[in-house]
Amino acid sequence: MNSQTVQSEKSTKIKGNLDMYEKRIALHERKIYDLKNLISLGISLSSNLNFQSLVESILFSCMGQMFVDRVAILLQVDIDEPNYYIHMSKGYDESFPDRKIILNENSSLLRYLAKNPDPRPFGQLKSTPSLVIDCDKLEILTPDLIVPMKSKNAVNGIIVLGKKMTGEEYSESEKEFLVDLGKFAAIAVENSRLYLMATLDRMTRLYIHHYFQERLLEAIKRCKRTNTPMSLIMSDIDHFKKFNDRYGHQQGDIVLKEVAAIFRQSIRSIDIPARYGGEEFAIILPETALADAIGVASRLRKEVEAHEFTGQNDPLHVTISLGIAQYDPERDKDKSDLISRADTALYRAKNAGRNRVAAYK
Ligand code: GH3
Ligand code: MG
Ligand code: MG
Repeated sequence: MNSQTVQSEKSTKIKGNLDMYEKRIALHERKIYDLKNLISLGISLSSNLNFQSLVESILFSCMGQMFVDRVAILLQVDIDEPNYYIHMSKGYDESFPDRKIILNENSSLLRYLAKNPDPRPFGQLKSTPSLVIDCDKLEILTPDLIVPMKSKNAVNGIIVLGKKMTGEEYSESEKEFLVDLGKFAAIAVENSRLYLMATLDRMTRLYIHHYFQERLLEAIKRCKRTNTPMSLIMSDIDHFKKFNDRYGHQQGDIVLKEVAAIFRQSIRSIDIPARYGGEEFAIILPETALADAIGVASRLRKEVEAHEFTGQNDPLHVTISLGIAQYDPERDKDKSDLISRADTALYRAKNAGRNRVAAYK
């Protein structure tokens, strides 16, 4: 072997080594990039107690990190809820019907994912005979990868990712990233749910009095800052004492739950409905002037009047009275002034014969 050949072999070897190091460095750089993203995601998720924006951050993180244009998330939205619904989706042409039942907590797929909590290609799950029925239900989401959200021993949600826009398969490092994201998401959803449980009245699922007071304070501050209107509705069930005396307290509780459900379903997501007292409900209506608030209150009154309450052989009926006041920075020195004006209006509605709406003008 002459010295030239030895030299050239040496330089090929050095070049090979350099290539390998460059690849390793690129890999490490990618890992550092992923880790940085994961840390900032972890911080943003753990500081985000607002459920909707939390879920949205999870979906956008998946889209941005994985280069996918379709993502959906299935969650148990309510406390004590046995079913997992499509809670939010991004990138699909259709918006999926709210509360469409997808999976039950005892379904084979959820039990399988609890035992195998790594991201799974949908094709692989689908070819497992015991999972076929559940996978069929997910088919409308055209899934490519399923990421379980596992916190402690339970899967509290599933992230469904579509195909990557690049057409490639998900790489191992991307799957590793998704494992961590799934864990973060699970903990964040759990925390957010605990927070919700602490602020919600168990019976009516409306906010508790204390939370209402805090939110009212915030809403008033926002009004002052942005100079937008805000209204407050106070409502009270008519002759509820008599109703309780006639049908019993338990039947009264059913009425409270059903009136609360009407309230929750009938208002916007930015409105804040609360159980102000026993059978008194309040609603904060941000960005709403008196005339629109009267519209909302009248609608609620009619819906309650028309509702057939359950619990007895025959449908039962109750009515409510409502009082409204719009926040007035001149008049309302603090939140108790606004509450007291809405209460005065409510009192007038009662005195005028009940089952009606009165506004403080
Ligand atoms: P009005 O039309 O003037 O409002 O008459 P009312 O009988 O409804 O009078 P009021 O609002 O003062 O009565 C409140 C009643 O609501 C009395 C109380 O027993 C009942 N109540 C309050 N909290 C609950 C509850 O959690 N469950 C049930 N079943 N009843 C409740
Ligand atoms: Mg009352
Ligand atoms: Mg009453």
